[in-house]
Formats: sequence, structure tokens, C-alpha cells
Amino acid sequence: MQNSVFITGGSKGIGAAMVREFSRAGKRVAFTYKTSEKEAEALSLETGAHALYCDVADVKSAQKAVSAAQMLIGDISVLVNNAGISKTGLLHDMNYDEWREIMAVNTDSLFTVTTQVIPMMIRNRCGRIINISSVWGVCGAACEVAYSASKAACIGFTRALSKELASAGITVNAIAPGMIDTDMNSHYSKSDMQLILDDIPMGRIGTPTEVAQLALFLSSDAASYITGQVIGIDGGFGQ
Ligand code: NAP
Repeated sequence: MQNSVFITGGSKGIGAAMVREFSRAGKRVAFTYKTSEKEAEALSLETGAHALYCDVADVKSAQKAVSAAQMLIGDISVLVNNAGISKTGLLHDMNYDEWREIMAVNTDSLFTVTTQVIPMMIRNRCGRIINISSVWGVCGAACEVAYSASKAACIGFTRALSKELASAGITVNAIAPGMIDTDMNSHYSKSDMQLILDDIPMGRIGTPTEVAQLALFLSSDAASYITGQVIGIDGGFGQ
């Protein structure tokens, strides 16, 4: 049964919506925050989920958070690798530290967190790993080259790991959201947002809850034969 859920970057946005959806579905949930401690505490009070500090880019921090989660909710059966950052601008204006930061948070974290969780899933011969990629990881976006590359790596990671773990009863899938209403997009001006909306066939951006409900589905028994997939949720944007 997929009842113990660990969500990275649960303090805000899509991750917070997942904390709410999984908690509402009766799951035992632990989630991580890095800087948004107050928001994490409030979400923990609201949902009963456990909030844990973690810098997903740091191996030791990830180890600590995963073992603390295991103590609180038992062996993890659903891992959602959600924590992420973005930076916009031309690639040649980006310095190496900025590139490394994006890769560390969005891509290295797939290693730091997932490798801690896989052994308990293999032991229990059951597990769901859900990685949050992006429509930009599928299509690529100008002024988001590093972000697009980090999210494309997430897709490669998902497809390869799904093959490695299928025989152990573990599914590995990626969600590729389009434009979702979170702080990540708060830097867009009204006119830029209108240009983006003009390109979305459904004419609106998505909600964090819509993404969270897809993650809940992928963790359910109804999704038991789905693995190695990249599932878009973008109002038709990424076609
Ligand atoms: P958000 O509102 O900015 O939230 C990002 C979350 O990641 C926060 O909980 C943040 O924690 C956490 N985080 C950032 N750096 C971290 C680190 N080093 N260690 C641990 N946690 C860290 O963004 P969002 O829109 O919900 O994004 C969630 C995921 O969806 C990301 O992977 C993003 O790339 C992906 N995505 C988003 C969109 C979109 O349109 N919003 C589209 C496609 C994909 P603190 O605040 O506590 O530091």
C-alpha cells in the first residue's frame, strides 16, 4: 500500500498542494522546506503532515531528512521529488555559480534524495517515485536554458530508473507541468503573462491542486501499470 509519502519542497506552491491532497486522502505525509519555515509550520498545523528542514542539494541534509521522515511515517512508499528553482535570462549572461545552483537543486537532488529511499522500497517490493519535471524539459525554453536542461535531465533520470526498478515493483514517472499559478511565476509582468496565456490552448494557467491530483493518481493502485512515463499537465501548452 502506498501510504507513507515524502514530498520535497512542500512548503509552498505545487508541493504544498500535494501535502494537502495526500493528507486529505488519509496518507502519512512528511515534507521538506528550506527557507519557508513559517509556511511549513502553518501547513503542518493545517494538515497534520510532518515538516522537516532539508536542502535537497546537500547529500547529508537529504540523508538526515529521509531518515527523520522514516522515523515519523515509517518506510517511505511514495517519494515526490518536487523541490526546484528557476532563473530566467540569457545563457551567456549566467555565471557558473548560477548554473550550478540550478543543477544542484533541480537535478543533483534527484540523486541525493532518491538513493536514500530506494533501499526501503526494494525491501518492501513496493514504491512510487514521482519526479516533477516541466514542459520546458520536454520542449526547451529560450531564457531558461539551464532550467530546461535540468528538467530534461529529470526526464532521462525517470525513464532510466523506471527500467532499473520495475522488477522490484517500483514505478517511476515524471510530471511535466506547464504554467502553474505559484511564486515561481510571480516575476512575470502582466503583459508577459498575457503573451504566455495567448499560447495556452485552454487560455488559463493551471492550479497547484490540479498537479497534486495527478501526483495522487500516479501514487494510487489505479496507476500500477504506468511507469517510465512523462505526463504533461499544461492545458495543451506543450504540444
Ligand atoms: P515554488 O512555489 O517556488 O516552490 C518551490 C519549493 O521548492 C519550495 O517549497 C522551496 O522550499 C523548495 N526548494 C527550493 N530550493 C530548495 C532546496 N535547495 N532544498 C529544498 N527545497 C528547496 O515553486 P513551484 O512552482 O511550486 O515548483 C515546484 C516544482 O514544480 C519545481 O520543481 C518546479 O520546477 C516545477 N514546475 C513548476 C512550474 C510552474 O509553473 N510553477 C511549471 C513546471 C514545473 P522553501 O521555500 O522552503 O525554500
